[in-house]
Amino acid sequence: MLDGGSRLERRKRLNGLNLSIVDTHAHLDMHQFNRDRAGVIARAQDAGVSTIITVGVNLESSKKAVALAEKYPGVLAAVGCHPHEATTVQKADIDEIGKIARHPRVVAIGEAGLDFYRNYSPRKAQLQVLEWQLELAVKLHLPIIIHCRQAEKDMLNLLLDWTKWYKDPHGQRRGVIHCFSGDTQTARQYLNMGFYLALGAYIGYPNTDNAHSVIRSIPQDRLLVETDCPYLSPQSHRGKRNEPAYLPLTVEMLAQIRNVSFETIARETTQNAHCLFRWGIT
Ligand SMILES: [Zn+2]
Repeated sequence: MLDGGSRLERRKRLNGLNLSIVDTHAHLDMHQFNRDRAGVIARAQDAGVSTIITVGVNLESSKKAVALAEKYPGVLAAVGCHPHEATTVQKADIDEIGKIARHPRVVAIGEAGLDFYRNYSPRKAQLQVLEWQLELAVKLHLPIIIHCRQAEKDMLNLLLDWTKWYKDPHGQRRGVIHCFSGDTQTARQYLNMGFYLALGAYIGYPNTDNAHSVIRSIPQDRLLVETDCPYLSPQSHRGKRNEPAYLPLTVEMLAQIRNVSFETIARETTQNAHCLFRWGIT
């Protein structure tokens, strides 16, 4: 059983400390939220999740993400093309993404990356689309949200090359490895390149105890939390739709694994989200 009290108690604690949590990776535009999107966002606020970054997976979904960020004050957008979509993506689509990325509510480029597990798109197309988005992130001085599944070697090589010539004027603000589940060595390589690592509810799935040492090794100023909703529901809601209101469960699990308080994880990850995505700063 998780400690940390009821949802209401958690919210009171967060409000009392003037704290909130940032869901740095959600897909609010997806059809699973069509019925009750406003309710989902309201429930997140009730649970202390004040800010949600909704992440596009292709041009159309990126446009929807921006529209949601315009409509809801607690929602920000990331725009990009997921590796699953790479085979259908043309350079013109990335140029269009570049245009909508200039919107003030857009805080990152992504979801970009490589997925050699599902291989829904040929690897060559995935690499090309990722490279275009890395260039775009540099051009617009925006961080990049990286999806990487069974492609660590190629990803590390590519990013190492990228970070050699990408000097961000804001310092270490290159991006985030979303849904990180690699080993300690891989974590260190990403951290050395200036990336943040984002963790979700999957850290509480059965047989994941061996990941605890990796989770403990992440410096407090590089950790982010996310839901990846509607996917990756917490263990207690497996088989059902995930939503941002469940994010405090991940904060509680992290607090237990890292042996610090719920408030500490909430404060650190929120500060880190502000440092990386810098919304409201011109
Ligand atoms: Zn995602």
